[in-house]
Amino acid sequence: GCDKFCSFCVVPYTRGAEYSRKVEGIFNEVKELVEIGAKEITLLGQNVSSYKSSVFEKKIKVEVNLAKLLKIISRIDGLERIRYLTSHPNDIDDDLISQHALNEKLMPFLHLPIQSGSNKILKKMNRNHTKSDYINLVKRIKSKIRDMAFSSDFIVGYPGESDDDFNQTLDLIDNVRFASSYSFKYSPRPGTLSSLKHPNIVDDNTASSRLQKLQSLLNQQQNEFNSEFVGNIEEVLFTENGKLENQYVGRTKYLQPVHVVSKSNIIGKTLKVHLRDLTSFSFHGSIKS
Ligand code: SF4
Repeated sequence: GCDKFCSFCVVPYTRGAEYSRKVEGIFNEVKELVEIGAKEITLLGQNVSSYKSSVFEKKIKVEVNLAKLLKIISRIDGLERIRYLTSHPNDIDDDLISQHALNEKLMPFLHLPIQSGSNKILKKMNRNHTKSDYINLVKRIKSKIRDMAFSSDFIVGYPGESDDDFNQTLDLIDNVRFASSYSFKYSPRPGTLSSLKHPNIVDDNTASSRLQKLQSLLNQQQNEFNSEFVGNIEEVLFTENGKLENQYVGRTKYLQPVHVVSKSNIIGKTLKVHLRDLTSFSFHGSIKS
């Protein structure tokens, strides 16, 4: 669930209030999955970054936030990669940033939705943070973890979004540089605050042309991010068969898809791969080890 009540979102109504599962339950579930072959785990929640629970250590009750939970889970032998989804910028604290800096199992890729780069629209959305809060947070994280990359969510055409508001979003994207992102035209969800108020609906043509412009900038950034990896040798965790014979598909630590050809079954293996070519948003490579 979620306690944030962004004005466009149904989650607080459909999923209810935030609830954190117990540490032991999560630990045991991850351990069981690793014992039957899982190599990568994604902790999932709205908002996962506000996770709050407790454990007893030497008979003393200790608070457990997401950072501590990640530390506890990473002790499981055989677990290679940990991710978490979805975070709210206001819940990313120093503990979590330090955990990224210290914990090698924690992947350096953070999905951090912002939705808009305009302070006026962020306020209407009830996001409780500003554009500069977000930019400063990204800077703070990058100053501790140099190879950290970011993805985000964007809504264009939110009621009241002017050309200037939209340009603020483009400016934010220019400033942060995202590895990938999801973007949508605003559509009112029944029962949400924005669907009840909806003044200044942005006309559909304007919203469509803004979305096109925004996606072209995001695609350009994704392409630039990926291009820097061509020629690199990267660790890839293989998870499925490709469409061609003897082809396998895996993911880098940044979730970039990589296709290779192998005579033996490599599903479940993490291998070093030479990334030779980039086609659209995925790589073709050859196994080095
Ligand atoms: Fe909660 Fe995310 Fe929905 Fe906002 S957008 S209400 S933070 S789930």
